[in-house]
Amino acid sequence: MRRAGRHFLQIPGPSPVPDRILRAIDMPVIDHRGPGFADLGNRVLEGIQGVFKTRQPVIIYPSSGTGAWEAALVNTLNEGDKVLMVETGHFASLWQKLALKLGLQPEVIETDWRRGADPQSIEDALRADTGHQVKALCVVHNETSTGCTSRIADVRRAMDAAGHPALLLVDTISGLASADFRFDDWGVDVAISGSQKGLMLPPGLSFNAVSEKALQANAQSALPKSYWQWSEMIEANQRGYFPYTPSTNLLFGLAEAIDMLNEEGLENVFTRHKRHAAATREAVRAWGLQVQCVIDSEHSPVLTAVRVPEGSDADKLRSVILDECDMSLGNGLSKVQGKVFRIGHLGDINDVTLLGTLSGIEVGLHLAGVPHQTGGVQAALDFLKSNR
Ligand SMILES: *Cc1c(COP(=O)(O)O)cnc(C)c1O
Repeated sequence: MRRAGRHFLQIPGPSPVPDRILRAIDMPVIDHRGPGFADLGNRVLEGIQGVFKTRQPVIIYPSSGTGAWEAALVNTLNEGDKVLMVETGHFASLWQKLALKLGLQPEVIETDWRRGADPQSIEDALRADTGHQVKALCVVHNETSTGCTSRIADVRRAMDAAGHPALLLVDTISGLASADFRFDDWGVDVAISGSQKGLMLPPGLSFNAVSEKALQANAQSALPKSYWQWSEMIEANQRGYFPYTPSTNLLFGLAEAIDMLNEEGLENVFTRHKRHAAATREAVRAWGLQVQCVIDSEHSPVLTAVRVPEGSDADKLRSVILDECDMSLGNGLSKVQGKVFRIGHLGDINDVTLLGTLSGIEVGLHLAGVPHQTGGVQAALDFLKSNR
């Protein structure tokens, strides 16, 4: 049956693709080895550096974010290397499993999935590694399963305070272009991202930004790699080309996305996300529900994970909201399945989109019989009115 109006895709990635980007992608495929391609190649390769805030090379793969996770590890490490990983949530734990499969030895700092990575625990773990066996520290910038961000600048300071030479690998798949991220300033060695979250593109592109130190590690790294090999990419990229067929039409979209981010201004994009996240928390508080993230300075600007009361099922709530309001919300992953639902407020959204989203949730809470107070939408509206 036809459903009138637009489907609300309020999961924390893929995020809704704006019309401008859809139109940019809707083009005939061009010859990726032809003379005209380099203009597009150079444009996106240079433009994406601005988004990462780096002058270092950024590699663009035709893959999901998971591919770029693998690329970051196989390009810098060797079999049996120890890697320190902070398990801030489901995505951090998936990255850890990937590292295990590659023959690395993850040493894990666990958390309760309600906060970001703790710089002090990292400093302590690195200080204890007097022989410098740990070759890389892996941290997720915006943990999409919990709605907690990690303070990457403080993580870098902790590494420096410990005087430890490990590489800093950061997953900013859902952070980039929604939450402030500064590759060069923060001394990140490899940043991993994807197209389908803050960049507002369909799934299918992923990224590795690579520091000078990461390039040196690449020259020493013997883990098997071919498709993911940075050096071949970087060489072809210097002329605006790719060693194998890139996702040509997604690159048209990427060029448009970068223009849109620059037109709005990255800092304004970050402020908009923070404001929408704060308004969402106002709604949650008024409903009498709990936000999964418990640290004030670590609330994600990208999404809010909300805990349902004991005895309620977050998945049932989501399915009622999908049926009744034609809106998709994110599910609780692994440990928090059924206990939380996730509201995506990233990418191409404005006050009215957010209020529509919160309205759908308030309707759903009522219809699904989840104990709550009304007035969440009003609280968010009041916040938005007085914080312009
Ligand atoms: C979405 C996401 C991933 C996985 O990306 P895929 O494109 O699904 O492979 C990894 N880490 C984080 C933090 C994410 O948000």
